[in-house]
Amino acid sequence: MFIAFEGGEGSGKTTQSRLLAIWLRDQGFDVVQTREPGSTKVGMRLRAILLDAVHQGLSPRAEALMYAADRAEHVEKVIRPALRRGAMVVSDRYVDSSLAYQGAGRALDRAEVAEVNAWATGGLAPDLTVLIDTPPAIGLTRLGGAADRIESEPQEFHERVRREFRALAAADPGRYFVVDGTLAQGEISRLIQDRVREVLPD
Ligand code: C5P
Ligand code: MG
Repeated sequence: MFIAFEGGEGSGKTTQSRLLAIWLRDQGFDVVQTREPGSTKVGMRLRAILLDAVHQGLSPRAEALMYAADRAEHVEKVIRPALRRGAMVVSDRYVDSSLAYQGAGRALDRAEVAEVNAWATGGLAPDLTVLIDTPPAIGLTRLGGAADRIESEPQEFHERVRREFRALAAADPGRYFVVDGTLAQGEISRLIQDRVREVLPD
């Protein structure tokens, strides 16, 4: 089973994916906790370039292709092998981040970004996607001025990203679970566990 976490900056994806992985391990599952970008050797180099890309003026198409390349490597080297041996995969970000950031954020054509990513991943989609929905004003504040990355984009960029995530969730309610990112951390993790319990294999 493959569970992805999505959401904007400072929404708590990293914290919540770690808490979910711990909870799943407590239930006896073999869990691979992973993230994008940067979960493979080449992916780490791509991540370094991408996190610096705001300062380099990387073109949006090149940015989209690099995220897709990182993802192709992630799927091939980490996610599919884990799924093949029956592990639970919990990923901090996946394809929908590219639809939100490169599609809506960088104003690339959403269908084209989706097509590139469908090719990059061989069509692998999560069984469940958890969207931690947080207003950018709150998420960006939580990061406490770590403006060395994409956080230095204008707030409008992050509003577009948030709108896209919400639209993706609304279009696919069977796959998506949306949780209010302004709730307390413990409350968010309980809500996620309740939802994940519904999709767990026996
Ligand atoms: O999730 P994390 O904070 O590690 O992501 C690293 C950076 O890459 C973030 O600033 C995020 O907004 C950005 N990113 C992006 N497009 C993606 C995935 C992540 O711009 N598809
Ligand atoms: Mg994070």
